[in-house]
Amino acid sequence: MLLKTLELGPLGANCVIAWDAGTKEGIVVDPGDEPDRIFNLLDDNGIRVKYIICTHAHFDHVGAIPELKRKTGAPVAVHGAEIELYGAVRDQAAMWGYELEDLPPPDLILKDGDELKAGPLTFLVIHTPGHSPGGICLYGQGVVITGDTLFAGSIGRTDFYGGSMERLLASLKKLASLPEDTRVIPGHGPSSTIGEEVRENPFYQGIEL
Ligand SMILES: [Zn+2]
Ligand SMILES: [Zn+2]
Repeated sequence: MLLKTLELGPLGANCVIAWDAGTKEGIVVDPGDEPDRIFNLLDDNGIRVKYIICTHAHFDHVGAIPELKRKTGAPVAVHGAEIELYGAVRDQAAMWGYELEDLPPPDLILKDGDELKAGPLTFLVIHTPGHSPGGICLYGQGVVITGDTLFAGSIGRTDFYGGSMERLLASLKKLASLPEDTRVIPGHGPSSTIGEEVRENPFYQGIEL
């Protein structure tokens, strides 16, 4: 699996593009902004997008979905518990002083345990609520894409609409069952590993594993 991260938009949300070198099939996770930078990466590498996937539907993670969908025709996948936030993206953005166009309706409603495939690559959907109701992590090929659930040394906020610290801590516990050397690619900031986070991240220290 080849993988690149682009830090996009005013809040620097990580967009992850992962693809198979042989078949050139891949996924785009959290296309938050700056669609041209995403298109350039896709074109330069000849990637065919199988799925556009939202770790969650905060506006800084979904802003480039309309243009990306128009260009690639790929289905947009979002967790069922995130539909309300997904439909309210313009209002979310307006609260931060940004203007977004409405998102196309999602094509695929995800649930915990679903698997998304791109060529020989498989990504397991892990429902990790807490930062938002329908937040997910995507696990496959030794990598977990964690959105705003888990950051290197920190976690996402729980004071937004639908957030819950209790649920987020339960989600962290779920992630701790992944192999230690799993590479963590968060929704903001640098990457890490599950082992490092379980040992060093202060939010893991109070959790009984
Ligand atoms: Zn978020
Ligand atoms: Zn974010």
